[in-house]
Formats: sequence, C-alpha cells, structure tokens
Amino acid sequence: MNSVICMILTYKIKHNRDFSHELQLAHKVAEFALRTRSRSSKDVKHIGLKSMIANQILRKYSKDKKLKCVRRVVLAVPNQGIHVDKENQQINIPCLKLDLNYQFRNDFKKINQVEINKDYASISVTIDEPSTRKVDGYIGVDRNTTGHIAVVGNPSTGKVLKLGKSAEHIHKKYKNIRRGLQKKGKYGLVKKIKHRESNIVRDLNHKISRKIVDTADKNNTGIKLEDIKQIRRHVKSRRGFRYSLNSWSYYQLEQMILYKAKLLGIPVAYIEPAYTSQNCSLCGHLGIRNGKEFKCPSCGHVDHADSNASFNIAKRQVKDGRLCVDRDAHKGSTDTPQTAMMGTTSTVEPNVL
Ligand SMILES: [Zn+2]
Repeated sequence: MNSVICMILTYKIKHNRDFSHELQLAHKVAEFALRTRSRSSKDVKHIGLKSMIANQILRKYSKDKKLKCVRRVVLAVPNQGIHVDKENQQINIPCLKLDLNYQFRNDFKKINQVEINKDYASISVTIDEPSTRKVDGYIGVDRNTTGHIAVVGNPSTGKVLKLGKSAEHIHKKYKNIRRGLQKKGKYGLVKKIKHRESNIVRDLNHKISRKIVDTADKNNTGIKLEDIKQIRRHVKSRRGFRYSLNSWSYYQLEQMILYKAKLLGIPVAYIEPAYTSQNCSLCGHLGIRNGKEFKCPSCGHVDHADSNASFNIAKRQVKDGRLCVDRDAHKGSTDTPQTAMMGTTSTVEPNVL
C-alpha cells in the first residue's frame, strides 16, 4: 500500500475585524450546548449564529463531558465553509464575509479549518511530509551543559555553537520574583509570572531549535540527540543536576527540533548518552574533567567540556543502527512554523492517508 505521511500546520493571521457580536452569540450557543447537550443547530437557531459555526460549537460542547464551563469560544469554520484562491493567496469565508490574505507556504493540500477569535484567524492546513534526505554526517546537540540550553558541535567543520546562555539566569530571576510574591500571599500574580517565564523560555527554545535545524540544513547534516530517558538515569554520574534537564523546557526544545527538522526532511537520531562527557572526542579514551575544561591524558586534546561532549554525541553510533525520527510523533506536538506572519502556533499530527 502506498501511504503518504501528512503534517498539519497552523498559521495565525490578524483578521482586523470586529467579531465581538458573533463571539457573543457563539458563547451563548456553547452555554446552551453545555446545558442541554443538544447537537442540533435547529435548537439554537433563535440565537442567530450561522448554523455552520453553531454546529461546530454544539459538537464540541455537547460531546466533551469534561467541559464544565464555557471558556474562550472561537468561531470555527470547517473546510466546506472555506474558499481558497491559491493564485492570489486569498482565503474567503462567506458565512462571515471574511477575506484573508496569506503569505505562508502555498503547497498545502487543503485547509482543514479556520478558527477565529477576537484578533486572530488560526488557519490549519495539511501538507505532505517531506521525505528524509540523504545527509553527510551529523551534528551533535548536547543539552546537559555547564551553562547553556544547548551546545552544538559539528565534527566535520570543528565548529561549535553555544546557545541559550540566559536560560539559567531567567529561571533564577523569575524564581526569586515568585518567592517574593508567595511570601506576600499574591498567588494570582505568582501564576502570571510563571506564565510569563514559560513564554520567554518558549520563545528562546524556538530560536534555539531554529538555529540548530538551520545549521543542519546549511551543512546538509542530520541531528543527533541524547536519549532523554537515558540521561535521567545517568545524570548523577554525569554532571550533576541542571536546571534544564528535569524541566518541561527540555522536552519542549526536543519537540521543536524534531518538528522543524521534519519539515525540511532532516533526519534526527538518538544515541546512548553514557560517557559522552567523559570520553575524548578525538581518541575515545577517558579524559579528565575540571569544571568547564576537558583534558585527555592519552592524546593531549584540550577542549571546552561541552564542546567535547557535543562532538561525542555527533560521532556516536545510532542505537540499534536505526533512526528514531518518529519516536514521539504519534502523540502530536505543538510548535510554530517560521513564517513571514505574526507569531503562529502549529500542531503536528501525522496522518496516514
Ligand atoms: Zn584523546
């Protein structure tokens, strides 16, 4: 059977329209659906929302038993309510009399749906997943470093990139702010600050993953990462606890790398993390770590400990000789495609057609 893997991307465009009235109606429909669990748009005809949109809301709020209250209702328009003019890069939604110009990639197969909130239209499109390309070697990404989110080493050029130095500083700063607020009992603000920190880190992870994938793209290499679960097992013997290691941001960065790499057909592989920081990246013998410095008594090689580790990761054989590109893909992940547009959110949902 011939199967094609698809990805779903979501792009956000500012719609510059006032939909507050429609959103109010949508809120009413959602409340009605919660109350009655009705699925018929005839039942909400009196509210006055276009039936195509009302149907979507009814479906969502009457189906999901976990939904207890109405929150952030959007106007969701399904595929059949959307017209696309690819030549002029325009999307037309007749039931809302809305025209949108888009600048994102034009090679999508179809628009799945458009969701409209107060300011933005989120356009979900399906694209063919690019096939994995043939590469000349790998770059290694070390995420368990002495002071960066990631250190990237390319053994074929000898170049090292150190990315995200500010992460630990950001974390400390916000931790202190939160502690202060907690003492004063301002828990609402604590939550807000937490949210702000995760936005900053998310943004940072986007930039770092972009840089890593672009580096692989430019050098036509694949990307090697350490197996995250294995690192946790080895962490004590390795470099002690690091802020990034046990946090969601660590996993988020990995998801972003996987996703961005996949869009360009760049292979991502996982390796066993054991001894990536202890061995010499030139001769393979056990070296001596002294803080940030690595020294090899066998060949005399001296390097920054993180650079040495990233080269080891890049050179290490892939587990079982196979690439684990899609390890987490079935769960779907959230990410942002880089486009000329505003900030975007996107979901990867590989489907087999
Ligand atoms: Zn050596």
